[in-house]
Parts: sequence; structure tokens; C-alpha cells
Amino acid sequence: MDHYQLPPFRIKMVEPIRQISKEERIQKLKEAGYNPFQLRSEDVFIDLLTDSGTGAMSHFQWAALMKGDEAYAGSASFYRLEEVVKRITGYRYMMPAHQGRGAEQVVIPLLVQHPGMVFLSNIHFDTTRAHVELAGARAIDCVVDECFDLDTYHPFKGNFDLQKLEHEILTHKKENVAGIIMTITNNSAGGQPVSMQNMRDVAQLATRYGIKLLIDGARYAENAYFVKIREEGYSNKSVREIAREAFDLADIFLMSSKKDGLVNIGGLIAIKNDLELFRQCQTRIVPMEGFPTYGGLAGRDMDALAVGLEEALDEGYLSYRLDEIKYLGDLLRQAGVPIQYPTGGHAVFVECGRMCPQIPFDQFPAQAVCNELYIEGGIRAVEIGSLLLGRDPDSGKNLKSDAEFMRLTIPRRTYTFEHLRYVAECVIRVYQRRNDIRGLKFTYESPILRHFTASFAPVEDGQ
Ligand SMILES: *Cc1c(COP(=O)(O)O)cnc(C)c1O
Repeated sequence: MDHYQLPPFRIKMVEPIRQISKEERIQKLKEAGYNPFQLRSEDVFIDLLTDSGTGAMSHFQWAALMKGDEAYAGSASFYRLEEVVKRITGYRYMMPAHQGRGAEQVVIPLLVQHPGMVFLSNIHFDTTRAHVELAGARAIDCVVDECFDLDTYHPFKGNFDLQKLEHEILTHKKENVAGIIMTITNNSAGGQPVSMQNMRDVAQLATRYGIKLLIDGARYAENAYFVKIREEGYSNKSVREIAREAFDLADIFLMSSKKDGLVNIGGLIAIKNDLELFRQCQTRIVPMEGFPTYGGLAGRDMDALAVGLEEALDEGYLSYRLDEIKYLGDLLRQAGVPIQYPTGGHAVFVECGRMCPQIPFDQFPAQAVCNELYIEGGIRAVEIGSLLLGRDPDSGKNLKSDAEFMRLTIPRRTYTFEHLRYVAECVIRVYQRRNDIRGLKFTYESPILRHFTASFAPVEDGQ
């Protein structure tokens, strides 16, 4: 294990976890409608559903909580957070939101000026896509083809395909493009990073056509670390400098701070210099999230975030973090399990369409494998595939995702290498009996964001 970076922390407080029996897991999963989102966390042994808000705070953050100023307006906690955000981004204006989607619901509709507009992104994250559609616009993804070539090494599979991007701008006409959203790292592509060169090229297109450029930067620090270790010319720059270079390219920064903010709840809106847009956000955030100096957060949450944003830029932490993901990915790959390679920033993505070719896409192979993994080891993973993608809004038909991923998402500073070795063993056991896994059919399906609440039944022979 000596080539993996050890954790740069020791454990001061522990949270007990327990494993229920296999018979109980089979029963609990049935009660949950074969949807791991509907499980109680006490019935889960290792929870890899998400890295969102599930990380451990440092003792500095817990201490900062006590300094929280709970004033409704003008809280000292707000000013401490504002100072950190301005220092990191270089942007003039900022306001907190309760989480990433809170920031989205304030900003995205303000950019949609008329019907028929589109947003262009490498890949829109699912809540971002939902807010684009709720605002009456369309979300179009322009990611590089390498993103879907799982086995071939490419250092920046999260990149935009610049030709696709320009083609979409010309097809829809620049006045109909509400914004370009750079998702860094590219969550839905497997947490894959975007290179600085690619971000520069995208920014150049945005400037040429007069389009606003947004960073959806939930994992901007992890992205900056990938740039440092994988892109030529960056090895001697600090992650902070690299992140700043990316911020300098864009106009607006939206962040789910539940990721690289190292907190359990929180979000951010930062605007480089558009005062008019900032004022519109200030008006809009009041009925949606709260007064602009708290945006849905307690004062203490803002203090914890101010500290967490700084800790997430620590390079010892980032190299250990990315090595944890690599460790799990290496164990799976050695056993022949098809994963997105190289591993990205926050998760290992197992390609279940290839693993279980007997299951058609609209019987959700990755959801079926997630369920098997829960039964095997009490591990909760999440589907990122055709179930998440949903239906075509025009035809009502199930859309087919390019990949059927099971995402094993690693919470920050939470599980040890031993836990991850156990996860790998369980995934490998499921892989060995992959031919016996069956698909799923809906017993309930909601019209939007269906993956959270859907229930299923396993497909029987002959169905
Ligand atoms: C998590 C996430 C969001 C949404 O943030 P929430 O805090 O979950 O509301 C938006 N974009 C990306 C890339 C994300 O990873």
C-alpha cells in the first residue's frame, strides 16, 4: 500500500456503524421498493450513496461552529465567509445558499430571457438540468467522446468537445444561449476533471459570442489538483493558484459546498463583477433561500464553511483523497470489473451495462447491481444511468444513457482504506455472479427526478 498517500489526519471522534444480517438486508430492500434511496441509513453498513454533505469536519470547523453569529442581517459569520470566498475566487460579489440547488434556483432563471433558450455544458448535473428545464430552457451536453471510452486512459475526460460546443452555439444562435456551464469536476462523467487548456478554450468561445460563462464548481479543488498532477506546466503551481486561474475565466460561480466546502450543508453564489445580476439575485434570494447575508444557512454553518473552503485546498488532503478513489478503482480493475478509467475525483464508476448485458437499459442494470451490492455487503451505492436520465420531455419515452454506471461515492475523511478493501471484495463477489442478476420494472414513478422516489419489482422470467 506504500504508493498510496496515507490520511493526513487521525481520528478524534467515532461514529459506530453496524452490519445487519443478509436475511434482514433482503427484507429491508424489498420494503424500500428496490430503491436504495428509500433505505434507512441505520440499515446501511457502508454508505457510498453520495459524497454530498457526508464528509467529516475537522476540529477547527467544530470550533468555528461556536463562533456562529445568528443575526438575521449582517451576521459576522457572513463577513468571515465572504472574505474567504472573495480571497479564493477573486470575485466581487457573493451570497450563501442552503445548498447547490438553492444557488441554481436563484441564478438560472435570471439568465433565461425568453422562451426557446438553451444552456450548454460539458454535462449538466441532474439538479442543474432540472432547474434549466423548470426555467423553460433546454440543457444540452457537449462532452468529449473520450468520456464514453471507459478503458482508454485520457487525463481529462470531463472536457468539453469544442467543436460540438461551437456547433450548438451556431445552431441555436448566440442570442438563444443563456449560458455555458463548466461542471468541474464533471460529476456525471465519473468525476472526471476538465483541463485548464479546455477551460481557456471554452472561455474564448464564450467571449467571442458574448455568452455568460458559469462554473458549476462543487469539486473545483479536486479539479485543480488534477490539473496540477496531469497537465503540463502546472506541477509547480499551487492548487490555490490553479483554482484562481479557472475562476478568472468565468463570470459566475455556483457551488454545492457539501462537496469541496467540507461541510454538511451549504452552497454559494459568487459573481465576478456584474452588479446588475448581483442585485437581481439579492432580490430573488429573499423569498427562495433567505436574506442575502444568510441564504438559508445558520451563522454557524457559514463559519464552518469558511474554514472548510480553506482546508479543501490543502494539497496533502487532496492527494490522499484522490488516492483513496484510485485505491478502490485499482482493486476493482485488477479483478476485471469494468470501471471508468482512470478514476476521477470523488467516486469509482462501475459500468453495469457491460457487466450485465442481459438486462435492457429500461430495466436499469446499474440499479439492479446496486441492489445486489446492498444484499452482498450492506453497501449503498447509486445508479447514474438511464434511471437518472429520465424520459424525453417531448415523447415521454425512456432515454437511453450512454453508460449505465453504479457510482461508489467516497465521503470525505470518513472511511478508511480497510473499509474500501471490504467494498472492493463485495463488488467483486457481485461481479462473479453477474449473469444471474435480473432487471427491474417500475411499480411507482414520479414525473420529475424519479430516481429518488421510484419503487420497483424485480423482473421475473418471461417478462
Ligand atoms: C451536488 C451538485 C449540485 C447540486 O448541489 P446540492 O448541494 O446537492 O443541491 C450541482 N452541481 C454539481 C456538479 C453537483 O455535484
